[in-house]
Amino acid sequence: MYSFIKGIAASNGIAIAKAYRLIEPILEVTEDCIEDVEMEITLFVNSMKTTQTELEFLREKVRKEQGDEKALIFDAHITILNDPELTDAVKNSIRDEKSNAAYALKQVSNMYVGMFETMDDPYLRERAADIKDITKRLTSHILGVRLADPSLIDEEVIVVAEDLTPSDTAQLNRKFVKGFTTNIGGRTSHSAIMARTLEIPAVVGTGVATEKIKHGDLIILDGFSGKVHLQPSEEMIVEFQERIEEYQMKKAEWAKLVNEATITADGQRVEFASNIGSPSDLEFAIANGAEGIGLYRTEFLFMEAEKLPTEDEQFEAYKKVLEGMKGKPVVIRTLDIGGDKKLPWLEMETEMNPFLGVRAIRLCLLKEDLFRPQLRALLRASAYGNLKILFPMIATLDEFRSCKAIYLEEKENLIASGVTVAENIEIGIMVEIPSTAILADQFAKEVDFFSIGTNDLIQYTMAADRMNESVSYLYQPFNPAILRLVKMVIDASHAEGKWTGMCGEMAGEELAQPILLGLGLDEFSMSAPSILKSRSNIKKMNKVEMEVLAAKALNCRTAEEVLALVKE
Ligand code: PEP
Ligand code: MG
Repeated sequence: MYSFIKGIAASNGIAIAKAYRLIEPILEVTEDCIEDVEMEITLFVNSMKTTQTELEFLREKVRKEQGDEKALIFDAHITILNDPELTDAVKNSIRDEKSNAAYALKQVSNMYVGMFETMDDPYLRERAADIKDITKRLTSHILGVRLADPSLIDEEVIVVAEDLTPSDTAQLNRKFVKGFTTNIGGRTSHSAIMARTLEIPAVVGTGVATEKIKHGDLIILDGFSGKVHLQPSEEMIVEFQERIEEYQMKKAEWAKLVNEATITADGQRVEFASNIGSPSDLEFAIANGAEGIGLYRTEFLFMEAEKLPTEDEQFEAYKKVLEGMKGKPVVIRTLDIGGDKKLPWLEMETEMNPFLGVRAIRLCLLKEDLFRPQLRALLRASAYGNLKILFPMIATLDEFRSCKAIYLEEKENLIASGVTVAENIEIGIMVEIPSTAILADQFAKEVDFFSIGTNDLIQYTMAADRMNESVSYLYQPFNPAILRLVKMVIDASHAEGKWTGMCGEMAGEELAQPILLGLGLDEFSMSAPSILKSRSNIKKMNKVEMEVLAAKALNCRTAEEVLALVKE
């Protein structure tokens, strides 16, 4: 009988195929008392060597197929594998307790996994998965058991697994693997990130996929809604098949717009840019027709690193993006840490309300040893493209002035020491705090541009934590209160001959775009897969008509009224 399971929509697209249950062999580890300690240590050391070779092979494969950045995960695994704290503990246990290698490894690994799994920080919690991954590989070699090998799949399937380790995901062949679903995982787990890069539809965190789906069952995976349909009827299969074809046809149609400018039916031009989290996202942004980068969230560079990235490491990342965009605008945001984003290697005070605490620019102004090297790296990279610098979470003019003063100091020092720095780097601020939106007319005299961060602007205006499901109904981009703030910002910038962009999720929302166009937004920055579709929509709109629509929307009383108006 038909049923469905619901998980987290981790990667867009629809797939209809037979389920392929990726079943892990049981690696049964028993406790044995051994006599030949040296032989057991040799067994462990040899399995380390085989694991090392295997990881190096995977790293090369991923590097070739998915780029340097995605291969970094294997560097992390190799580092764990060679961490003497872990390996010495295993050897000591073999030696002192006469444990067999597999058992000694299991004990040590459990201890570390337990330690990481209980940490508050989601980044550190996910490191437990890396240790499990390494342990599994090592144990298989100690026991001489072959692991399930996703690279052997040679027919079109949807992979169903308890969890997919990063190395499993890396081995998936896009030609055959049409999608995957797992019991475990969230949007930021490595397998979800890789699925998006590989453009494989995925639903993660279902809790029950392996329990409900049998090997060989025909299933439909909907990566848009996060649903997996079991025992679908003939009609459903036909319906989803049509949706796949429709989506393909639409994509082919949109793809024709990849090199076109974004121009309305009445000839008004706006800019459609992409949000990125790392230089490796650039290729995808360009392939999706980005006219610029409207937001490069640099914090991911810091969050993925094991220590503070050096000025040179940062310079290389920023340069890569600037060069890659070949003179098109690139807005790079300085570090936005705090709230839900933490740095594993940075000690921070525990706060009652981290979203209202030492976040983003507040942290940078407190810790200039974080801020100044980033500004220097940005200034040095500016010679390689069209850089605009964006400061996050600005609440007062004084904060902006402090940022600008530090920036100018670093700039002068670099120039004095003979470093080439671009002449006209624009300096802008995120408008994501109501005080800044309200005072936009004053800010507009001093900044070069605004970028409206609606994700936070809505959270702070409605006083509704963006992480809290129970108040998610208050995330209301269409609330007239939000629209009025957006209007104030755009009008204020235009009055001073400046421009306004939007890099919050609202900019990519199909129903919001007509209003934003009517309000006069200059730049829309969104996730890459939304660009071409949005461009095709904008081409059909008449700006003058949208101005009338926006004016009506501003006078509505509720978000529902605005939505009804746009749909009309
Ligand atoms: C925003 O707040 O809208 C934004 C783009 O920044 P982030 O989502 O990174 O906080
Ligand atoms: Mg924000």
